[in-house]
Amino acid sequence: MQQWAKGVYVPSIIFLLLCISSCSTSYGTGKTNTVQNETTGAKPKNVIFLIGDGMGLPQITGAMYMNNNKTVFERFKNIGFHKSYSADNLVTDSAAGATAFASGVKTDNGYLGMDAHKKSFPTILEMAETKGMATGLVVTCSMTHATPAAYYAHIDGRTDKEGIALQMLNSNVDLFIGGGENAFIHRTDGRDLVKELTDKGYVINDITHLPIEDLDMGTKKNIGFFTADDEPLPVTEGRNYAIPAADKALRFLDNRSPEGFFIMIEGSQIDWGGHANDANYVVTELHEFEKVIAEALDFAEKDGNTLVIVTADHETGGFAVNPGSKLNHIDVAFTTKEHTAMMIPVFASGPGAELFRGIYENTDIFFKMKSLMSLE
Ligand SMILES: [Zn+2]
Repeated sequence: MQQWAKGVYVPSIIFLLLCISSCSTSYGTGKTNTVQNETTGAKPKNVIFLIGDGMGLPQITGAMYMNNNKTVFERFKNIGFHKSYSADNLVTDSAAGATAFASGVKTDNGYLGMDAHKKSFPTILEMAETKGMATGLVVTCSMTHATPAAYYAHIDGRTDKEGIALQMLNSNVDLFIGGGENAFIHRTDGRDLVKELTDKGYVINDITHLPIEDLDMGTKKNIGFFTADDEPLPVTEGRNYAIPAADKALRFLDNRSPEGFFIMIEGSQIDWGGHANDANYVVTELHEFEKVIAEALDFAEKDGNTLVIVTADHETGGFAVNPGSKLNHIDVAFTTKEHTAMMIPVFASGPGAELFRGIYENTDIFFKMKSLMSLE
């Protein structure tokens, strides 16, 4: 990122969004029946699902041109698009977006693990646990943030960190790595959820001040790493655990169960760069996330029985690579500080990857994974 000249930012351009009268309309359940006939091919033992929060095609494009025209996404041959809208808004938030992937239902913005009528649905992580698969969550935000929370919590308010943390006790996730320890230990109800998780059989590590590379993962117990008291730092301010954490997590989960494993890994802060209309934040987070994706692909190619899927919940910022851009020196603009309704690319590699071609609802990603993982 040395070539990134600070002066190249054009001022953020905010276009007024026309609030169309259909803003509050219900956009349907997003349920489709396209999966049944597509699953006669190979099925993976392991699934690595990677979410770049706020990572639309413009962000991928900008990161590519800021990396000498190279992108990890060139390693994928099976590419599709999903329609990212939620039950109550063409522009989804991360809670509804993650719930679509995790539970296969379109829900209202702000809801986790339940539909728009507040009916709870099992998550793919819970279903994988029931089947006996090993499971993991690795994120660069707090563990109670919307995207990871959608895999273990069922709640109608994404901002209720303490309530979400409490629901982690019901999850049997084998491994988690992320920030947000405060919601587990400094609580208004006085409970110490780190102690309660430990009593449940977890080994919980606070690695806020330690390099993850040095830690021993050699336990048969479930394991959790807190990487920050609240939200982890941006990459540009020194956060550096995502790549070794992904590597450690894959090694930990591999061969932990004869049924294989499911892991969700999130590049959480690409979205925060978009909200801040900060192109350098977006690109540096995305470059790190690309290295995490490369780790996943390397593991999967060596293993031969692992499906890797990469997508985003939504685009953030209305990011554009504008005229005047040159290789490794882009001029950018943003249309908003919020999310947008753009279709989102999906990249897949490994057994069953061909199912992810085409254009489909975000909820279909759940049904495709569920079918490939033979979950009920
Ligand atoms: Zn966001």
